[in-house]
Amino acid sequence: MKLLDKNKNIKKILIGTHNKGKIREISYLIKNKIKKVTPFDLGIKSPRETGKTFKQNAELKAKYFYNKSKIVSISDDSGLSIKCLDNKPGIYSARWAKKYGSFLNAMKRIIELVHHTNNKKSNKATFFCALTLQLTNKKKISVLGKIDGSISNKIIGTKGFGYDPIFIPKGHKKTFGQMNKRKKILMDHRFIAFKKLKAKINIL
Ligand code: IMP
Repeated sequence: MKLLDKNKNIKKILIGTHNKGKIREISYLIKNKIKKVTPFDLGIKSPRETGKTFKQNAELKAKYFYNKSKIVSISDDSGLSIKCLDNKPGIYSARWAKKYGSFLNAMKRIIELVHHTNNKKSNKATFFCALTLQLTNKKKISVLGKIDGSISNKIIGTKGFGYDPIFIPKGHKKTFGQMNKRKKILMDHRFIAFKKLKAKINIL
């Protein structure tokens, strides 16, 4: 575990994503005394997401941002898997929003598919987050977090980002989009992954 000791007191971290919702959430979870930089600050573009799993994409992004910056980098790959849609959009969650023109349109389409044309009658869904911390060129740690829930029959709430207004976490009545931001950040798939990461290396 020498390498981890060497990195025990990291001073700076690159939040390896261009998604402002993710930047906000990941920054919120990392200690105040660690300086956070983003690809926007450094003028680094996003890599192509060629992985076939959340984990592969998170690892590919963290490595890419580390190689571009030589700064300890953290990246996530996340998305919404809907049971009756054979776990789609899954790793294609961001790409579905592009395909349908906006998140609003993608959410409308999902509601239509889940609540109007679904004969399996299940609205179960899970948000996944693979998180990778790239410490050096060779050393990385990856974890996976998930939260189960369901797809609402309306788009509700203006808080959060992405698919937040259609996801109701299990045991709750409100969508992520209706919840106070802090409450959502401290219960979602990213937070669960982050806790697992901290259990493996408590430097963040
Ligand atoms: P990617 O990880 O960059 O491929 O993008 C994941 C996509 O999944 C995001 O653009 C969002 O659409 C969606 N997503 C991931 N996490 C969340 C979340 O916490 N709330 C809402 N949407 C999310």
